Amino acid sequence: MLSSSTLLKINFATNQTLEIKSLLKDTKGMLSAKYISWLQNKYNVTLDELLTNLLSFAADFSVAPISNFHVGAIVVGGSGNLYFGANLEFKNQALSLVLHGEQSAISNAWLHGESSISKLAINAAPCGYCRQFINELACAQNVDILLNGKVLNFKQFLPMSFGPKDLGNNLGLLSSVNNLELSLKPKEISLTFFEQVSSSYAPYSKNLASCEIRTFDGQVFYGRYAENAAYSPSLSPLQAAISQLVLSGREFIKKEIEMVTLVEMANIENQLNVTKAVLKSYDFEVPFTYILLTDNI
Ligand SMILES: [Zn+2]
Repeated sequence: MLSSSTLLKINFATNQTLEIKSLLKDTKGMLSAKYISWLQNKYNVTLDELLTNLLSFAADFSVAPISNFHVGAIVVGGSGNLYFGANLEFKNQALSLVLHGEQSAISNAWLHGESSISKLAINAAPCGYCRQFINELACAQNVDILLNGKVLNFKQFLPMSFGPKDLGNNLGLLSSVNNLELSLKPKEISLTFFEQVSSSYAPYSKNLASCEIRTFDGQVFYGRYAENAAYSPSLSPLQAAISQLVLSGREFIKKEIEMVTLVEMANIENQLNVTKAVLKSYDFEVPFTYILLTDNI
């Protein structure tokens, strides 16, 4: 399946641009299906044309002090809502700790409650790491990739792939699962935070994990751990949470961050060191709380 079109360049008026940017920050990088439909009608464009024109808004959220390569990605969720994402790099840390734009957008859709995605628009070809990350999606075979005005099915980007089923895992990322009994909730964390831990995706190590970032003005941002059958493109919860903060137009800086909390499973813990490494990349002592959950999953 290959289709291409001469994509229209939309000249958004200044107040339109400001409105889109403001909406994205208010919703942690989401535009509703209703708003998208309204924009399509207003500018008389297809969804693909609109997505292509919105990619620069996604790339504006990029934090890339190492590469200066600003990736913007937009996921179309099963609901029709759009979820934005951008790459996130950490100075003076292993390059393997970075968050890719596609991971950011997919994690964003997941954190907003989507259980499937139909399309991913990107402003640069997905790297091999991201192709493997996308392959973990339960709906991977049905995802279209919009790149340079062309739409290709994801399968064309990753033939002869290795994925969850090869390890006997029939669920896949974005499968909606609550893994933990409510009785296991530690009293130190909120129900919302516990639900993030419970719905994280750790079919291989069983280390259910989530990270919460609290800002001094009372905002809360979450990230969920997302493992991968190939292991290495797994997404750590802190990076996912920082991405949510950045998509809200904020910065991870001393005057903003009240507390970072990591919750993971006792006796399996594999996120503490990577979390500490990312926190060390910032030029201030980040307030940090660590909570272990005990379960017999
Ligand atoms: Zn990538």
